[in-house]
Amino acid sequence: MLAQPIASEASQLIQQQRRFFSTGQTQSVSFRLQQLKHLKAAIVDNQAAIAGAVRADLGRPEFEAYFEISVVREIDYALKHLQAWVKPKRVAVPVEQFPSSAHIYPEPLGVVLIIGPWNYPFQLVIAPLIGAIAAGNCAILKPSELAPHTSAVLADIIRQHFDPSYIAVVEGGVETSQQLLAEKFDHIFFTGGTAVGKIVMAAAAQHLTPVTLELGGKSPCIVDADIHLEYAARRITWGKFINAGQTCIAPDYLLVDRRIKDDLLAAIKRCIREFYGDEPAHSPDYARIINQHHFSRLVELLQTGRIFTGGTAKPEENYIAPTLLDQVNWDDPVMQAEIFGPILPVLEYDHLDEAIVRVNEQPKPLALYFFSRNQQKQAQVLRQTSSGTACINDTVMQVTMATLPFGGVGPSGMGRYHGKASFDTFSHQKSVLRKSFLFDLNWRYAPYANKLKLLKSMINRN
Ligand code: NAD
Repeated sequence: MLAQPIASEASQLIQQQRRFFSTGQTQSVSFRLQQLKHLKAAIVDNQAAIAGAVRADLGRPEFEAYFEISVVREIDYALKHLQAWVKPKRVAVPVEQFPSSAHIYPEPLGVVLIIGPWNYPFQLVIAPLIGAIAAGNCAILKPSELAPHTSAVLADIIRQHFDPSYIAVVEGGVETSQQLLAEKFDHIFFTGGTAVGKIVMAAAAQHLTPVTLELGGKSPCIVDADIHLEYAARRITWGKFINAGQTCIAPDYLLVDRRIKDDLLAAIKRCIREFYGDEPAHSPDYARIINQHHFSRLVELLQTGRIFTGGTAKPEENYIAPTLLDQVNWDDPVMQAEIFGPILPVLEYDHLDEAIVRVNEQPKPLALYFFSRNQQKQAQVLRQTSSGTACINDTVMQVTMATLPFGGVGPSGMGRYHGKASFDTFSHQKSVLRKSFLFDLNWRYAPYANKLKLLKSMINRN
């Protein structure tokens, strides 16, 4: 592991990985399976240390810290399906190509860079790594410096279990990230904010390196009147306030049918009390804000609208209570950027059409939530809005499924991962046409006399 590498150290590490990649060892499926098992064992063996580090960085409840470790389920999924994923896929060949066969071969890209954020500081580095290993790549990981305990534990685990010529962790801050980004990789997988996403993409463009950008945004939560009030309130409260709202797909704001607004707010308030007690600051199940900078940014946002519940803050422990903000307007500061904290502004609508128009006026979000029993309305929302992912009648749970690709659209990101999508992200799909020497149709060779008729018949064939 390198602490604050100078640029040449980063490039040496990359060269070392390129040499290892060129030995072809990562091409072997059994090697990849073995490495995935090895990674799983390393995580399982170190689960207490990982959970402890995440708790130290984010003041996160133990249960939520263990979410980070549940990333091993992605490994199980890859172990189960990798043999099928790596198989070349046979595709049809048209008659004029005879005699031949055609296949799509997934091939590894080479040396990839994975840059992680602080909010789920372990799993958002490991989940893409699983895809990189499954697809046969070498990888350099740059965890977030804002979660230093997790970064250190992750670096330790990787150093103890993997040769840096294959997988390495480079710890450090923005400068380290920039030094790495100046290098040529075969793919860059970035998770973080939209502003830094632009910096990453600009750096990647210098080498024409493809990027996956897992970014953020304001994920709306639209609530129709036709719902199971208590279930909806519970699912919204959980999705918003886990990790104290520092979840990229947390519902950012509520857009509620005016007829049920009062009932919904009362129900969410009850849920907050049920989950975290009368004084969430004393709850073992409620996380803290990552640092003072984000704490102050969020406290500013508490000036908006009317506080329906919560609104208290303790600077000495970066605590902000689970907060509902009523009487919020679209042009209020809290509606201008991703909140990324435990503050839930509430806006109202009279007709669903109006809510959809409002949502579509905002940049395309990473997630969209819609609560309604009405299937026509569900279909309408899915058809008339665009978001990276969507979930009907729940929040956040769509991200936990290996069978659903995860990623943003427009400013909330590009590319997707989880399950097979991770394997595809870190693979090049090589198209291969294989001809035989059995015979050689001569319809395409000059002289073209008498052949145009055949070409025209191919073009005009129904
Ligand atoms: P961030 O963009 O500030 O930092 C992410 C990483 O980029 C860190 O490793 C950091 O060292 C590096 N970095 C920061 N500034 C840089 C610069 N100028 N040049 C090069 N590298 C730089 O993001 P964050 O604050 O760690 O995370 C919060 C954001 O991430 C939120 O917007 C959230 O929505 C988003 N996020 C998205 C997902 C997703 O899966 N789409 C998941 C988690 C978080």
